[in-house]
Amino acid sequence: MTTFRELGITSTYSEKLADQGIKNPTKIQAQAIPLLMEGRDIIGRAKTGSGKTIAFLLPMLERLNTDAGSVQSLIITPTRELALQITMELKKLVEGKGINVLAVYGGQDINLQLKELDRVVDIVVGTPGRILDHMRRETIDLSQVSMLVLDEADQMLQIGFLDEAEAIIEATPKSRQTALFSATMPDEILSLTNRYLKDAHQIMVQAEDI
Ligand code: ADP
Ligand code: MG
Repeated sequence: MTTFRELGITSTYSEKLADQGIKNPTKIQAQAIPLLMEGRDIIGRAKTGSGKTIAFLLPMLERLNTDAGSVQSLIITPTRELALQITMELKKLVEGKGINVLAVYGGQDINLQLKELDRVVDIVVGTPGRILDHMRRETIDLSQVSMLVLDEADQMLQIGFLDEAEAIIEATPKSRQTALFSATMPDEILSLTNRYLKDAHQIMVQAEDI
């Protein structure tokens, strides 16, 4: 069994995980983390509960430049619940590290989010509609994004958010690293990966072997 340290994760994060009882990477984490640490694009297919969140959060944090002064990482999720869940996991990992995380989603007072965006934000987690809203108001600058994650892409398609997600991807630099996670791979998602991912490595974890 491997450890997060063996995958190249520094002790500051591996210890925070150990405190939460998370000591050994799941299959998707063991495969995705080294590739993402190298800067590769990936398509991750694994069912719900297989640990996809940590698989992208850890490399994102390891590659983050805290002196950048603008949004470097963007995580697009289909629902507010998912945005909040990812934000919670992220905040546990970055506690005391001076990394600023902001969740933007519909239903929350936009003025509150605007106030938060006034500060330096390193990582944005959000739903497509609200991210676009901020883009139109020019209250969010995605021109320095170096890592983009599309989480639960098939849910995004089901809800009808794919076009909005695409408009957001277009506002980020082409030089970015992109990771897409999805439990299934319908044609629309496949086509999206062909258009926006570069030389993507596909990782597939079967349902029975998390
Ligand atoms: P997914 O996005 O694939 O549906 P999550 O990332 O939400 O899965 O993880 C599901 C649950 O498993 C979470 O409660 C998370 O804390 C836990 N978890 C993630 N990675 C590990 C691990 N390596 N060992 C033990 N538990 C883990
Ligand atoms: Mg998930």
